[in-house]
Amino acid sequence: MQSVLKDTNKNNYYETILVGTGAAGLYFGAGVPCGHGKDVLMLEKTARPAMKLLMAGSGQCNVTHGGSIKDFLDCYGDHGSRIRTCLYKHNNLELMSFLEGLGVPLTEREDGKVFPASMDAHDVKNALMEACSANGAEIRQNSPVTQIRASESGFELIAGSDTAYTCTNLVIATGGCSYPTTGSDGSIFRTLHEDLGLKIEEPRPALVPVFLQDYRFGELSGISLQNVGMKISDIKKSFTGDLLFTHRNLSGPVIINNSRYITTGSRLEFNFIYPENVETVTASLKKAAPGSSRLVTSFLTEEYSLPKRFVSKIVELALTEDKKLSALTGKEIAAIARGLAAAVFSVSGLGSFNVAMVTCGGVSLEEVSLKTMESKRYPGLYFIGEVMDIDGNTGGYNLQFAYSSANAALDSIFSR
Ligand SMILES: Cc1cc2nc3c(=O)[nH]c(=O)nc-3n(C[C@H](O)[C@H](O)[C@H](O)COP(=O)(O)OP(=O)(O)OC[C@H]3O[C@@H](n4cnc5c(N)ncnc54)[C@H](O)[C@@H]3O)c2cc1C
Repeated sequence: MQSVLKDTNKNNYYETILVGTGAAGLYFGAGVPCGHGKDVLMLEKTARPAMKLLMAGSGQCNVTHGGSIKDFLDCYGDHGSRIRTCLYKHNNLELMSFLEGLGVPLTEREDGKVFPASMDAHDVKNALMEACSANGAEIRQNSPVTQIRASESGFELIAGSDTAYTCTNLVIATGGCSYPTTGSDGSIFRTLHEDLGLKIEEPRPALVPVFLQDYRFGELSGISLQNVGMKISDIKKSFTGDLLFTHRNLSGPVIINNSRYITTGSRLEFNFIYPENVETVTASLKKAAPGSSRLVTSFLTEEYSLPKRFVSKIVELALTEDKKLSALTGKEIAAIARGLAAAVFSVSGLGSFNVAMVTCGGVSLEEVSLKTMESKRYPGLYFIGEVMDIDGNTGGYNLQFAYSSANAALDSIFSR
């Protein structure tokens, strides 16, 4: 990095500079304590802050979940327990009362997802922007930060067309790599690694659909099955949840929420009738078969309350064509049982960052004190939101972490 100090003048010194005005950045700016706003500058790469926030929940903005905060810990993959302190301290109830205090009434759906009562993400964004402005925290747009250097007294950075800034506290809130057209393209990761030597866990798309080799379910597009069991054989993890067939891939909560664990080449085993299993299906077919003129498809559809089109496909794959129960051979019964309760597929790929709702990977948790979000190596450097190696399930968990981490950093910087 060229000498930033040479170009630096006092006007470009701020006590705290925040980089990135997405959800986490705006929660930070909105929470700056009274009287401190003039010391805070917020640099945003694009001309439009919080573009991704406007897309959240299909534009309705699922800000958090209304359940017990204890249950949140299971919703961040293997990393949930590591952010316990920050989630508990700045929990969902606090987030809700914060937004309501800013004049955004909220509503909780039956499934626990919490939205603005207007179901319009603009209301959340506008309230946060107004709070930043009321606090006096300036947002400077079209200011992509491209270089960062740690100095004796803090940090020096270059943003936009070679504008130099210095600060004592630097808060990185640049998000991950998903939906790169919103500004969150992950380019900061190279800067953090090359300029500061920080460890970055390889960013991967998460909350994405999964493509299978030799996908045979395209014609079932739109059919959803409840409570499907899914084993990821290579890492020996098992999950249950709803599954959705689409034209080209598998989607739905059991896939999307666990896509963080799936890679190209993973082997997935599905039990479409969980908690039944191969043995119970085999037993019920063997029991029903003798002397029965009933067709297999009709029997299975009723026995397991499954959509007929789905059962027809399973039967087609196992037997080629439907037949009477009494005509089934032992091998055919075994093939049907496996097709329903232990169907194995290889993954040919996952949705790209263009469709990923979140990024798995990012600034390694080893680098960060997870109570304050402060860098262990560089005092005064903070990370909040999706830039960190934290990714939540769908249901409001990512925006909750944006809020909780932003407030942990605010506590530390302003000794709140
Ligand atoms: C389609 C979609 C729907 C979603 N729905 C939900 C939902 O309903 N509920 C939920 O909880 N989560 C949802 N998420 C996830 C959630 O939106 C994100 O996790 C959250 O927005 C991350 O906030 P962030 O502030 O960390 O990052 P971002 O929102 O990505 O913001 C980062 C900001 O930093 C800026 N930036 C990047 N690099 C630089 C740089 N070098 N210099 C300056 N600025 C920079 C970017 O332009 C951007 O404005 C959804 C995501 C998507 C894509």
